[in-house]
Amino acid sequence: MNINTLLIALVLGLAALALFLLGFLLLKTALFSPPQKEIKPRRFVGVDGKSVAERLGLAVQFKTISHDDPERIDSTAFFGLHRLLKTLYPEVHSRLKMETVNDYSLLYTWEGKDPELKPIMLISHLDVVPADEADWTHPPFSGEIVDGYVWGRGTMDDKLGVIGILEAVDYLLKQGFQPERTVYLGFGHDEELGGENGAAAISALLASRGVRLGSVLDEGGTIMNNFLPNVETPVGVVGISEKGYLSLRLIVELAGGHSSMPPEETTIGILSRAIHRLENHPMPARLEVIEFLMSYLGSALPFFQRMLFANTWLFGGILKKKLRKSKTLNAVIRTTTAPTIISAGEKDNVLPGRAEAVVNFRLLPGDDLRTVYERVLAIIDDPRVKVVPFIGDTLGESGWDPSPVADVESPYYQKLARLIKEAYPECLVTPYLVLGGTDARRYIPLTTNTLRFMPVQFEQDDLQRMHGIDERLSIENCGKMVSFYIAYIEELSSAFDDDEIEMDIDEVVHDGDDDDLPIPTLEETMALQHDEDFDIPDMPEDKD
Ligand SMILES: [Zn+2]
Repeated sequence: MNINTLLIALVLGLAALALFLLGFLLLKTALFSPPQKEIKPRRFVGVDGKSVAERLGLAVQFKTISHDDPERIDSTAFFGLHRLLKTLYPEVHSRLKMETVNDYSLLYTWEGKDPELKPIMLISHLDVVPADEADWTHPPFSGEIVDGYVWGRGTMDDKLGVIGILEAVDYLLKQGFQPERTVYLGFGHDEELGGENGAAAISALLASRGVRLGSVLDEGGTIMNNFLPNVETPVGVVGISEKGYLSLRLIVELAGGHSSMPPEETTIGILSRAIHRLENHPMPARLEVIEFLMSYLGSALPFFQRMLFANTWLFGGILKKKLRKSKTLNAVIRTTTAPTIISAGEKDNVLPGRAEAVVNFRLLPGDDLRTVYERVLAIIDDPRVKVVPFIGDTLGESGWDPSPVADVESPYYQKLARLIKEAYPECLVTPYLVLGGTDARRYIPLTTNTLRFMPVQFEQDDLQRMHGIDERLSIENCGKMVSFYIAYIEELSSAFDDDEIEMDIDEVVHDGDDDDLPIPTLEETMALQHDEDFDIPDMPEDKD
């Protein structure tokens, strides 16, 4: 064989390999995310959105604000709202059992015909975040109806859920409907503070009665327009898990002194360096969640993007770089790092002896409190920076692990997804990771199916109205929301076989033992920093 033949063979071989690779990429792309099945639209009950909007407007007028200081709770506002609900929905209040929990939260029980079947639960919350009147187009507690919208704090988060669910139950009662399964409604009063006294107490009360739920439906996902760049189809996102939470306090203490003779390094300098290192070494990116999501949406993606997501084995690196440029998508691929408080110094010519900062982390499923804490120590890599929980002595007091992931094969998820397709035939439906916190996580001890979806359609830009200014809900959304809840209760409270998805709850729920471990001593911290497992994650400096 002469050299020419050898070269030709080599070129042909390489060409064959390239063709094979291309074929493989295309095949993976073609198999990735087949189009979602068309579903016949269902006939939903027609509901007068205007009158729902008016009743929601009344609920908005009660300033049920959650302040950071729980002592500041305005009991008049909460009791006023309770009275309003009784006045608006007398049928519900005479036929369902209503209990108040910790004075302000509400639990309703609608007995089902068959006590053998697992009950379902729908939850929402009565409290809202504060609002600064001056910035709003229409006053935040007016509940005014203008330009086709009901305006005010709570119209998107989350009084719409309270009114929407009660409207649906009221309608069904008037139709003589009786559920097969028991239906619980739970409206917490401190969701915006973490749900400790509301949702957690309701959940504990049900647990004490031996209740196990088939599923819980909470806020957390909606129908989104412009959900992803280049995807014009509206997307119904259903939260099946939510991120964990951890706040850590960084403390540097050194002898203070006069600023005329500063030492080489100061408390402020050392603390700044630690924060800088944390920002420049983001927690490692992982693509499982986004890949899972894209496997539902891929059919709507432009070809090139679909090829990237279908072949993360090859394009994972490129994807991680691209995704971290978007605030939202970055939060879907990693545990995020956010310095939120910093304090040191009081006088311009005195070196402070103490500097401290608080950094807030939102944990991606797969990470846990302990791992994140240890990684933080390794990244800061400076024993002069003490890292302690923001509150209390244990990590569990300053945070919680990501919630377990609900099973998308369960009939509870499947029925919900189907209803969404029936109500919004033009949309794609996908499971999703909720980036913020919801009350749903408080019900994890009662069910493996915590699902987060509100039947309303928003633009991407609308999301900043929640907790921001000019929160509002369209009259059209008001009507469709109630129609949806009616169908949801009819469908999900019916008898169906859910035995096959029975899971051992202890396997799913993290027992939290690790989180109660005392935080490491300084020596342990040092040892950790030299442990290879906790080397600084190999991430490029994030300067752009
Ligand atoms: Zn909320």
